[in-house]
Amino acid sequence: MKTEVEHKLISKQINPTANRMLVLDFLLDQRSAISLTDVERGLVPTDRVTLYRTLKTFEEKGLVHSIDDGSGAPKYALCADDCDAEGHHDLHLHFYCNTCSETYCLPKTQIPKVQLPANFQAGEISLLIKGLCDKCNSIA
Ligand SMILES: [Zn+2]
Ligand SMILES: [Zn+2]
Ligand SMILES: [Zn+2]
Repeated sequence: MKTEVEHKLISKQINPTANRMLVLDFLLDQRSAISLTDVERGLVPTDRVTLYRTLKTFEEKGLVHSIDDGSGAPKYALCADDCDAEGHHDLHLHFYCNTCSETYCLPKTQIPKVQLPANFQAGEISLLIKGLCDKCNSIA
């Protein structure tokens, strides 16, 4: 019997090693995007280099996408099923909460189409909104 984690790795053409299953399992537990340091803290004693390589493999294979929220370190979040090694299709907004410093994927909120000046060609597109998340807003 294959576990859900194993299945997810195989569906993205990733060889399900013990370390990879561990990292994916941890990612599935998160409500917000996490940095390499968060993964390292959560999965002691796995070493940082191994975790870094694992996240890079996940990103290349379309399992996670990285988010630059301006905090200095990229954060990682799971992709939708339609991302693969050919490319990412995570054209959703990301939200950074100024209060709890968490970064969230907002998969239901797509990046609107933008009009670029002539001869400007878009490569990667990302849109980050900073503000107050639902959790912090309900405490305030
Ligand atoms: Zn993706
Ligand atoms: Zn918050
Ligand atoms: Zn995202």
